[in-house]
Amino acid sequence: MSAPPRVLTVAGSDSGGGAGIQADLKTMLALGAHGMSVITAVTAQNSLGVQGAWELPVAAVRAQYRSVVDDIGVQAVKTGMLASAELVEAVAELIGGTDAPAVVDPVGVSKHGDSLLAASALDSVRTALLPAATVVTPNLDEVAQLTGVRVESESGMREAAAALLAYGPAWVLIKGGHLSGDAVDLLTDGAREHWLRAPRLDNRHTHGTGCTLASAIAVGLAQGRSVPEAVAAAKEYVTGAIAGGFALGGGIGPVDHGW
Ligand code: PLP
Repeated sequence: MSAPPRVLTVAGSDSGGGAGIQADLKTMLALGAHGMSVITAVTAQNSLGVQGAWELPVAAVRAQYRSVVDDIGVQAVKTGMLASAELVEAVAELIGGTDAPAVVDPVGVSKHGDSLLAASALDSVRTALLPAATVVTPNLDEVAQLTGVRVESESGMREAAAALLAYGPAWVLIKGGHLSGDAVDLLTDGAREHWLRAPRLDNRHTHGTGCTLASAIAVGLAQGRSVPEAVAAAKEYVTGAIAGGFALGGGIGPVDHGW
């Protein structure tokens, strides 16, 4: 039997199983990849929010990464919650030195408003992490945090994409899901522009959406798809996952990976 594509997530753990490392590994399994994990932080978390977060030492993150990459090897890497400037810089250096595409989800604040990245880390995201990204996948809050551009329309998404491309990622995927109307995303490398549209789904159980999308893109890249192909397939996967999102606990439930 041939080995499945190997995909690595570098992200935080969500004890509730809806987002972070847990969402990443579920997505990778559902899409036929072998998922591996470098844990950057542990959160105590459920459907109501994040009750606590503890980052791991930089040495522990580096050691996990080397263990995986030096023996098993990776065909794509996805990064999520990186918590601090020190971890952002270490991870940027690690992925910059690895010959595999990197999908960077610049995780800032959770849907409940809990901060997953120190404000002091934003500069390191801009100057160290973004230049190492094959694709960066911010939502509109993260766009505003990173560029100062407050997107209120589709033309604003173009302006935001240009501001992010200036930091050096190969592609930018601006997720416009927080605007009203259809869920519209803009994928661009500065020369080509792809608009991805999906009908807005009336489901509040969307915990883990961003992690799922970025992981699905990483699987597509590991399978040898181009960035536009991988993003289009990932958008289809996440739309199905949101459609199946279900209530769990007393708050916002997770997207579904078994549909
Ligand atoms: N917890 C962890 C560890 C995450 O990485 C993320 C998102 O990337 C979240 C929580 C937030 O997920 P959501 O905003 O979908 O609720």
